[in-house]
Amino acid sequence: MLSANKSQVTNMNTKTIETFCPECDQEVTANIIEQSSTVRIKGEDIHFTEHVAICPRCGAEIGDSRIEGPNIDAAYDVYRKRHGIVSPNYLKSLRKRYGLSTREFSLFLGFGEQTEHRYETGSIPDNSQNTIIKLASTGAGAAFLLSENGGKITQKSVERVKAFIDKKTSKHQKASKISLTK
Ligand SMILES: [Zn+2]
Repeated sequence: MLSANKSQVTNMNTKTIETFCPECDQEVTANIIEQSSTVRIKGEDIHFTEHVAICPRCGAEIGDSRIEGPNIDAAYDVYRKRHGIVSPNYLKSLRKRYGLSTREFSLFLGFGEQTEHRYETGSIPDNSQNTIIKLASTGAGAAFLLSENGGKITQKSVERVKAFIDKKTSKHQKASKISLTK
């Protein structure tokens, strides 16, 4: 599976960040430290390494979205790996191989119109939807989904799905088994 979170926070490498300390009421160059943290995701305790900005003057933790955003992503990545759940980047690249919009791809998968968009922006698919997404990465799975949901998408999208299936089946004739990691 792809694990491609390439987003970088400026200065993350040097472990400092220019930010504002509300305690000191001034701009500071905060040190970024790593610490073990636990969050609850879907009723499960997820342990991950959290980055925290510490004010060099007063020692307070400084809330900064440039640090907190990646922390949430890191926690969700741990959850995804534990459950074999596809990443937003994987989902996006799979959809692009089909050449479908998020809405059309979502309907093709049998999801609601907005669902694919939510998953591409970080929401976590439930297990059955995750299985369907993995199915969609194979030619046989795509053919099955087309027979199930082809009526929900435009004719143009149907043609694109057929092109995807053709490409898959000609390229991987010998490796057409569906392997779903559990
Ligand atoms: Zn401070």
